[in-house]
Amino acid sequence: MRHVTIPVFIPELACPNQCVFCNQRNISGKQSQPGKEEVLKTIEDHLRTISQGSVIEIGFFGGNFTGIDRDLQENYLRLVQPYLLNGKIHGIRLSTRPDYIDQEILEFLKHYRVTTVELGAQSLDDEVLVQSGRGHTAGAVEHASRLITGSGLRLGLQMMLGLPGDSLDKALYTARKIISLGAEETRIYPTLVIRDTALELRFRSGDYTPLSLHEAVHQAKEVVKLFEEAGVRILRTGLHPSEGLLNGDNLVAGPFHVSFGELVATALWREKLDALLSKLSEDPQQNGGVCISVPAGQLNAAIGYQGANKKLLQKFYYPLKFVESPALAGRVFQINPLPGLNKRRSK
Ligand code: SF4
Repeated sequence: MRHVTIPVFIPELACPNQCVFCNQRNISGKQSQPGKEEVLKTIEDHLRTISQGSVIEIGFFGGNFTGIDRDLQENYLRLVQPYLLNGKIHGIRLSTRPDYIDQEILEFLKHYRVTTVELGAQSLDDEVLVQSGRGHTAGAVEHASRLITGSGLRLGLQMMLGLPGDSLDKALYTARKIISLGAEETRIYPTLVIRDTALELRFRSGDYTPLSLHEAVHQAKEVVKLFEEAGVRILRTGLHPSEGLLNGDNLVAGPFHVSFGELVATALWREKLDALLSKLSEDPQQNGGVCISVPAGQLNAAIGYQGANKKLLQKFYYPLKFVESPALAGRVFQINPLPGLNKRRSK
């Protein structure tokens, strides 16, 4: 069944915290909190385009929902109750900070039928959290996570890659902790240097070096493998490309790519397909043509972003064909010779 989230961005205009990477208004592209009419219009506009039979949630994103004024939280939550009652939407999710969760807050959220709480964990390494100015510890993430799962709410834990003091080993540690805390969902965001942030100052003074795009894709690939193995749903890999990121106004440096998720999917398939290349004859003339069957829905990822994987394999196999097979799942593939076309393309 298709899951769709209608996003409502609520920037934390007066957030008391000072995460070094954050200028929330620049990241989300929003400069003010949406009023009632704007929220309703967002919902109605999305509902018109969502196919029937989908599981639909409203997601209050953009900052720290349980940190905003309680009356404002209540206004937003009340606004969407009619949609839950008439069955047009099936749940509410929101994102917030781990240190803005306690039992009373969870009871309040449950009263308004919130179904999922996503915490911006970002890292479960205390040193990384300190260097990133997060203002909470890994222990706070663990405590809040246990309260959420203990309350019967679905837990999502977001993580970032390439924060100050971070490393691939620490990212893998964070992913493993997220799994062990019972998160059913995650989002993976590479750290970008956004304009008017503390990280921009550090970057300009040479005190912080962002991940290259290649490094960020590699790290994301490694944590994705852990999450997939554990059955944690990956809701997103890479930031939503807001206008300020796309036109570069808000982006100072870092591994931004409009199709970051596709690059990661390409890398995951590339790793699988590499096994083929290692088994190839030393005489490429003997490799011939092949048809590679991949699971349904994986065709584009297997072929790769801008055909990268296909182009690589075509240097060894020609002709080369990718097809979908409903009998396959995950990232399993089958390779069969293409009879009668046993001839390598000349370059
Ligand atoms: S990322 Fe940090 S600074 Fe930005 S809104 Fe969230 S808590 Fe506040």
